[in-house]
Amino acid sequence: MPTIADRLKNVSISASAAMTQRARELAAQGVNVISLSAGEPDFASPTHAVEAAHAAALAGDTKYPTMDGTPALKAAISRKFKRENNLDYDASQIVVCGGGKQVIFNAMLATCNPGDEVVIPAPSWISYADIVKFAGALPVQVACPQEAGFKLRAEDLEAAITPRTKWLFLNFPNNPTGAACSRAEMKAIADVMLRHPHVWIMTDDIYEHLIYDDFEFCTIAEVEPRLYDRVLTVNGASKAYAMTGWRLGFCGGPKDLISAIANVNGQNGGGTATVVQAAAAAVLDGPQDLLFERAAIYKQRRDFVLSELAKIDGLKCHKPEGAFYIFPNISGLIGKTSKGGRKIESDTDFVMALVNEHHVATVQGAAYGMSPFFRISYATSMEKLTEACARISQFCAELR
Ligand code: PMP
Repeated sequence: MPTIADRLKNVSISASAAMTQRARELAAQGVNVISLSAGEPDFASPTHAVEAAHAAALAGDTKYPTMDGTPALKAAISRKFKRENNLDYDASQIVVCGGGKQVIFNAMLATCNPGDEVVIPAPSWISYADIVKFAGALPVQVACPQEAGFKLRAEDLEAAITPRTKWLFLNFPNNPTGAACSRAEMKAIADVMLRHPHVWIMTDDIYEHLIYDDFEFCTIAEVEPRLYDRVLTVNGASKAYAMTGWRLGFCGGPKDLISAIANVNGQNGGGTATVVQAAAAAVLDGPQDLLFERAAIYKQRRDFVLSELAKIDGLKCHKPEGAFYIFPNISGLIGKTSKGGRKIESDTDFVMALVNEHHVATVQGAAYGMSPFFRISYATSMEKLTEACARISQFCAELR
């Protein structure tokens, strides 16, 4: 029999996708499931994005794209980096890909050799480690403990770097914790990186605009300009503009790295859909009020869910600065048994019992590299959040 490649042996199906699938199965059986498992805004994509894509298609902008992005979109991205991040990236320093995920995938394929190490602060987005392994490199996780607000501490980062380290990944505001770094915290990370000139830094700023309580977002190339030549600044339309299905991500970075990424992109998909690029240019250059309006709504949801979870014995939550996730610690519930008879020995037992018995889908911390925790995505309506919190509360109260 023909066989599947060895490189897939260590690459898993994402646990959040698996949980979303479980929620769908229950829903298909007629169960009223509330899904808090997907990292996806519940808002509609902006109307002017849809109109721009439509206009581009009608105007015949439907031929093969260039492998690095349309000049119009790259110009809009360049303006975005200047306006929002005070970063100068010209057209030769920007690549457009099919989502932030593809940017990171292409970047790792373009740079990693077997045996290279990639330092990933944990907990982290599920895909980072899988992408790194796909590229033949080794993910090296560094714990960002709850006591430290889930932030990367300079001494832990310093200890993780070796001569084989190729990349450091940063993702603040973070998936799954919502933690964001202040300028001083980012500077402490930058100071470590100044001492290790052989390491590139990939900063995934996809949650940049989901930030609350006047917390100020910052990104490492701007905080420490001496690192500018080693930083790949990644962003996209998915989270900020509720455009997950369009598949649009981009990055700014040093020219040589950017052309290597564009080269991989040319073979991996061959460039991003032209009409999607037209839509992205429209949102980046268009009115930005929706960002603030939506952030206010997310903040209200975050505060509500936090206050409800605080009433539950056995859960310990850290207040997140951004994104749309909460990552409660369930160590107080380990060892108990659910009403349905499932022994809660891990966070995976916890989320499985919760979805099967009270029909709320969440994701176990183990999937993000930190246990015993679970991730709640509050990117859904207040009505559903209210019902979900009541169910989680009842589920926990029934544990014996
Ligand atoms: N980075 C992080 C941290 C994410 O959580 C996600 C989406 N879950 C992505 C990147 C992927 O974004 P995109 O839709 O742009 O591929």
